[in-house]
Amino acid sequence: MSATTAQHSIVTAKRLVVKIGSALLIDSATGALRRDWLNTVADDIMACRTQGQEVVIVSSGAIAIGRERLGLKGRALRLEEKQAAAATGQIQLAHAFEEAMARHGITVAQVLLTLEDTEERRRHLNARSTITQLLALKAAPIINENDTVGTQEIRFGDNDRLAARVAVMISADTLLLLSDIDGLYDSDPRKNPNATHIAEVRTLDTRIEAMAGAAPTGYSSGGMVTKLQGAKIALAGGCRMAIANGQANHPLRRLIDGERCTWFLPNSEPRSARKRWIAGALNPVGAIIIDPGAEAALGKGRSLLPAGVTAIKGSFERGDPVTIETNAGRVLGRGLSAYSNKDAARIAGHKTGEIHQLLGYRGRDEMIHRDDLVLD
Ligand code: GLU
Repeated sequence: MSATTAQHSIVTAKRLVVKIGSALLIDSATGALRRDWLNTVADDIMACRTQGQEVVIVSSGAIAIGRERLGLKGRALRLEEKQAAAATGQIQLAHAFEEAMARHGITVAQVLLTLEDTEERRRHLNARSTITQLLALKAAPIINENDTVGTQEIRFGDNDRLAARVAVMISADTLLLLSDIDGLYDSDPRKNPNATHIAEVRTLDTRIEAMAGAAPTGYSSGGMVTKLQGAKIALAGGCRMAIANGQANHPLRRLIDGERCTWFLPNSEPRSARKRWIAGALNPVGAIIIDPGAEAALGKGRSLLPAGVTAIKGSFERGDPVTIETNAGRVLGRGLSAYSNKDAARIAGHKTGEIHQLLGYRGRDEMIHRDDLVLD
């Protein structure tokens, strides 16, 4: 497979997040769940798993299913009605996935997330470890937004961005948005018969953003606008993304067989990819011990300053990987030290302004810059 073909194929994904839109799951004429179609999706996922790929599903549809059940049809819903519909529909949705996947002996696991769960560091890490644990146990996570608790201000409202956040959170390399359109066009193909399909996007600039029209009506809440917002999140996290038409049976197999879609490819090394590298690929050669004040600052995403450092262990040079530990020896994370162990010990506990005087040269202000630091 050539490099370009490999980039443009879900076959090369190691950890794949598949987002399924409401418009695919629900028959718009009858309001019924498209079970036969869902079975073909389950078949395709089974085929991916047989190839050793990990697959996580982000599925919409709870509100659409629930509103049918509750007789809330033909009008816009108030927030509390949407929440009631989500509570009703989610159980049906999970059951449908359970049935479809059980045909292949796959165990499904429901994960409902809020915006905060993907943003707040501790909850983010919790959610990440739950999902990766499920994958390790060979279960198939089925994720949706926890719509019953999300109010207008604090909810995603669309699963395009949720799926992108999830993909980055679990370090997935590929995100596939299954939609009712086969990708991005330079203008709305439903209005303009001469609209041109875009096969690949590397930079999400204003020209690309302008190609997304307003969100369509009907079941889906996102449209192209939220898909591009999702792409932005995914690319920033080093995850490539595809928008594909998932309407026909076996949507994943069709893509593998060459059906067209739009690929969004990350082009530069993103910060999170670097962080992943720091977190995973390096063996620490020393430790920097910090006080509770510094621990709190790191928790807020700040850099580690010399003032919060209480002791240095091991022997290391500038740029070497070290662990960051509390006085009690609890490992908080790891990072690349901006100073050797000797210089670090000299400036430990001192203000940044004193570095020059203590060392005879003006080094970095931070002991470990936040870009070089990953918390556990
Ligand atoms: N979380 C919503 C649901 O399950 C769907 C959001 C979306 O359509 O993207 O009904």
